[in-house]
Amino acid sequence: MELTLYNSLIREKRPFKPADPKRVTMYNCGSTVYSYAHIGNARAAVVADVLFRVLRHIYGEEHVVYARNLTDIDDKIIKAAAELGVPIAELTEKYARIYNEDLAALNCLMPTMQPKATDHIEQMADIIVELLDKDIAYIAEGHVLFDVTKMETYGKLSGRKLDDNLAGARVEVASYKKNAGDFVLWRPSKKDEASWNPSNKFPPGRPGWHLECSAMIKEQLGDTIDIHLGGIDLKFPHHENEIAQSECANEKPLANFWVHNEFLNMGKDKMSKSKGNVVLVHDLLKDWDGEVIRLALLKAHYRSEVVWSDDLLRESKTQLDGWYRVKKSLELEDLIDLPPPLHFVFDDLNVPHVLSVIFGLTEELEHKQENSEPDLFKRGANLHVNANLLGLLQKDPEEWFRGQGKAGGLTDDEIESLIKERAEVRAAKNWPRADEIRGVFAEENIILEDGKDGTTWRRG
Ligand code: AMP
Ligand code: ZN
Repeated sequence: MELTLYNSLIREKRPFKPADPKRVTMYNCGSTVYSYAHIGNARAAVVADVLFRVLRHIYGEEHVVYARNLTDIDDKIIKAAAELGVPIAELTEKYARIYNEDLAALNCLMPTMQPKATDHIEQMADIIVELLDKDIAYIAEGHVLFDVTKMETYGKLSGRKLDDNLAGARVEVASYKKNAGDFVLWRPSKKDEASWNPSNKFPPGRPGWHLECSAMIKEQLGDTIDIHLGGIDLKFPHHENEIAQSECANEKPLANFWVHNEFLNMGKDKMSKSKGNVVLVHDLLKDWDGEVIRLALLKAHYRSEVVWSDDLLRESKTQLDGWYRVKKSLELEDLIDLPPPLHFVFDDLNVPHVLSVIFGLTEELEHKQENSEPDLFKRGANLHVNANLLGLLQKDPEEWFRGQGKAGGLTDDEIESLIKERAEVRAAKNWPRADEIRGVFAEENIILEDGKDGTTWRRG
């Protein structure tokens, strides 16, 4: 099965070939852990997780190394910790744990490793020294800066020319920069801020954000990785600058494939903490099963924007209910010979196409009796295989219908009041409404039992 991926670096879809099929490497710029992750952050993680699952399927689970970093030192973290009056590590450890829990609830597999920026200060220093020695970096007013004019191909990922950067630099350029586009590799720490002194070749201080990823990639995965992922907002300047640092220091390409996911938006705006329009994964999980949220995120192709809405969640839940009903009726767990997955997922992760086939099939299968057709079981199995690859349908159907899977459907109070209404409309011989209510219960898989003490109910 050949996997093709859109490579943002060359702006083309190409067959994916790892340098070493026994050790396929992928790196995803993870979260800055100072508060709860929002659903836009989750989108980036879910896209990476699907790719991770696809690569594991092709190359074998033990042959794919996925690193998702934790940025555990930066301005926002320092500010948040100071405001709360807690040590930085306490804050970052707490939110790193919540981040992992939230993503696990969305069925994201744990990455092979989760390197932390603060564990890679020495490796960052090595890159800085290399760049200083090559006269690509310079020291000014306690900072170490990367001189963008020293790299001929600077801007190749984003397609920005240095002149564009200068023209676009409306903000005042710091006096210590030689060129407006120069970026910080290392900065001085203010009094009371965390500070490191890893080398006598440059002053003490703390790392610039871009440098962290270059150091972690080199240390954990190697000079050149197969795939680098992240949200489209990171393309410039973050990824551009990762490329600049790593490629000038190592004299090798940083990544063979660059995969960027598009934005998740609220209305017309990108969801972001700074805009204050965020929906937190943590909050959504109180009302919705993680699989519902995951499916809602997977409905659009990763290179298209998603406009977030409750309708998206409701629709996803209804579809998953149908899918789980088929899973339940076909007892797919007993399958031994599984068919290959639908090929669309290998075509630049065309998940929406896979989903449209799946939901067409679930509808069809839902209306057929078990074993009424010789190939029914096989076709059902197809749903199962694809579900695993997409990280959906991972629960036992019983569990799904009993518990969380029902979230977003009828609440207990709503069920009680519908039961009361049902008794009333039956007494009034209002059969159409009684039928309607029966339909709602059937749809929600709620089973009523009429006894001498009234009607009791349970989730089916
Ligand atoms: P951050 O915590 O801001 O460093 O972001 C973590 C990941 O989420 C990065 O890959 C970002 O590009 C991605 N990301 C942030 N906001 C959005 C959004 N609204 N839509 C899609 N991806 C996003
Ligand atoms: Zn990064």
